[in-house]
Amino acid sequence: MALRATICDLKSCIVALFIANFSNKKGENMSRTILVAGHGGNPFDPGAIGNGRREADVNRDIANRVARDYEGVTLYPQNRNLFVSRDWGFFQAGDRVCEIHLNAFGDTSANGTETFTSTNATATARSQASALHNRLVGIGWRNRGTKVANFQNINVLSGRGVHAILTEICFITNANDMALYNRSLDAVARAIAETYGLRRRNATSPAPQPTPVSPPATSTPSFNVEPFSGRFRVNSSSGLNVRTNPTAASTSTVIETLPNGREFNATKVVRNGGNVNGNTIWYEVNGRGWVTATLVTNITPPPPPQVITPPSPRLFRVQVGAFGVRNNAENLRVRIVKAGFSDTFIATGSDGLHRVQVGAFSIRANAEALRTRLINLGFRDAFVNQ
Ligand SMILES: [Zn+2]
Repeated sequence: MALRATICDLKSCIVALFIANFSNKKGENMSRTILVAGHGGNPFDPGAIGNGRREADVNRDIANRVARDYEGVTLYPQNRNLFVSRDWGFFQAGDRVCEIHLNAFGDTSANGTETFTSTNATATARSQASALHNRLVGIGWRNRGTKVANFQNINVLSGRGVHAILTEICFITNANDMALYNRSLDAVARAIAETYGLRRRNATSPAPQPTPVSPPATSTPSFNVEPFSGRFRVNSSSGLNVRTNPTAASTSTVIETLPNGREFNATKVVRNGGNVNGNTIWYEVNGRGWVTATLVTNITPPPPPQVITPPSPRLFRVQVGAFGVRNNAENLRVRIVKAGFSDTFIATGSDGLHRVQVGAFSIRANAEALRTRLINLGFRDAFVNQ
């Protein structure tokens, strides 16, 4: 985000947006290419562990690399784990979403690349999945095929008209897969970028800051940048400019213009920014740039009910199964949700195992009653975990 004024003046940005939109299908103007790094968030879900790496770190790093080297990437906020936060409102119909994961298996000889769509995927998503898959196979990983599975995120997003795919680039638990990965970072980034037709940034220009959660160089030292957490909706019929600095004066450049009604997350606030109609508060948009608080409506949702974390020593958790492979846990979770337990989620322990959790109770008898119901429904591995 360290955009220099020389790279991007207002006119060239508008031209660039125009060109980008024209390459999209009809009716998908303003749609975005969004990379979702799997796991991570706060509390931190490391994902799978293997070869000295945590999956969440690898997922995040490759998403950042694409955003660093190519134009037109939106990063899902990396202080959130979409699987847990479920803030589907971040996405809009027509957006293109690639959720990035690495595979894992107890038998470390398992290897290769897989690309997933959900059963309700759009035709666009299916063709993007096979395009990405072919490029990853071309890098050298064994071809495990494109597959269909209703993983929560891509399933929900597909149901909302988002072109959502999920890549398991390779196996973090396989030494050869990871050796190839470590020497193919640019190739993996290029595979993702070419799948979505992203343009490589001007090689002579300084690359923007890769990660939206590290402090972007979008404000001068005279602004007090504070951490913030809020969700907003654009309330301006002519749209809302996103700027490099929290000021509408010549010290900032317009990066893009958000349409009226667009929702966004703010993770930073400046309270002493440029004055717009008597208001000097500016919010950072999805880690990309700054918008005045004058033209937005606060729609911050109430904090989600604390069911799982922080772990309370007195909670009796009803869980089913423990898996080294997240996909296996996910498949079981889908079955349990279909059986009527819609709050079921996957808890990844510090041991790297993915446990499917159906409920948590402060009273042991309630947990035991749920366990009995699950066993009677055929989920015979149900147990109560204190
Ligand atoms: Zn994963």
